[in-house]
Order: sequence, then structure tokens, then C-alpha cells
Amino acid sequence: MEEFEKNSPWGISLDEIPPEGLQVKFEDLKEIGDLKIIEPLSGHLFLKKRGIEVWVKGSIKGSIELTCDLCLENFLFSIDRAFEVLLQPKRSLNYEGEKELSLEELEVSFYENSFIDYLGIIYEELLLTLPFRNICREGCKGLCPVCGTNLNKETCRCVKVKKSSPFAVLKELRTISEKSIGKEV
Ligand SMILES: [Zn+2]
Ligand SMILES: [Zn+2]
Repeated sequence: MEEFEKNSPWGISLDEIPPEGLQVKFEDLKEIGDLKIIEPLSGHLFLKKRGIEVWVKGSIKGSIELTCDLCLENFLFSIDRAFEVLLQPKRSLNYEGEKELSLEELEVSFYENSFIDYLGIIYEELLLTLPFRNICREGCKGLCPVCGTNLNKETCRCVKVKKSSPFAVLKELRTISEKSIGKEV
């Protein structure tokens, strides 16, 4: 288990990776980029040199907090990612290299100055695991566009005109008139 220190770069230089590969475990990782970590991250990285490239196979577990795009409430997002990535020296990025990449069909990233940055790898993989849209739950009703009520928690009295369906509007109106009739009685 390699110790993780915040102040020194956490990683290894290329020539320190033994030919048989290197296994790195991490746990209790509580800070990375601007992500809000709830359950500290743990996992492993296995590094193996392939010429000037480094093949990395790893896993990350934990959970972070995201904010729902629809209702603006925070919610827990669980992470359980297994990945494989091929690291190439940054300077080798050229047309020939790109051609090779598409044949490999492997996720590719880059390292700089002959240094493999573990946190950089983990952070990149975390970003890849994030959803395209942050939605707190299936069928989140979001906020009422008129009064801002969180419609997952309560209903409001605003009339929402759905232009796509005239029947929906009719239904809304009918519900309202039924309600007001009910009140008068
Ligand atoms: Zn939501
Ligand atoms: Zn409303």
C-alpha cells in the first residue's frame, strides 16, 4: 500500500515501473479536483510498460455528491468503475499515433515528463463516469417553472400550459374548475 501525500506529486516515474508491472492500491481518498466526495474513494491501479506507453488497468469505488439539473437537490452518486487506459507520452501525439489509436479501440490518455500521475488518472476516470445529465432519480419532476416549488416534494397550483398537447391543457383546466367547484360546495 503506497502512502498518499497531498503535497508531493503522487505517482511514479516511467523508469521505476518494473518489467513485470506495478500494482498500486489506494484508499480513503477524500479530495480530488472539485468533486465533493462523500464515501472516500478506494481502488487499485496496475501499470505495465509497453515500450514508451503505459497500460493501466484499474478500479475506483466510492461515492460523490452531485446536484440534480432538474430539481437542484443534491444527491448521492455511487462510483464503481473498472477501466483500462493506455498512456502515451504527450509529445508522441501525431497523425500516425492517432491512426494506431483507432485500431486499438482503447481509451487513451497522456503522461508528461516521464511521470505517471496517479491522481490524474483517477480524476480523469471519475470524470468519465459522471452522467451526461445529473438527474437525482428516474422521473424527477423538477421545479415548477412558475413558482419554483420542488415538484418531487409538493404540488403547486400553477397552471402549466403544455403546448404540445391541447388535451393536457384541457385536462388541467378541468381539474382546476372541479377543484374550485369543490371549494364552493
Ligand atoms: Zn431531481
Ligand atoms: Zn408552481
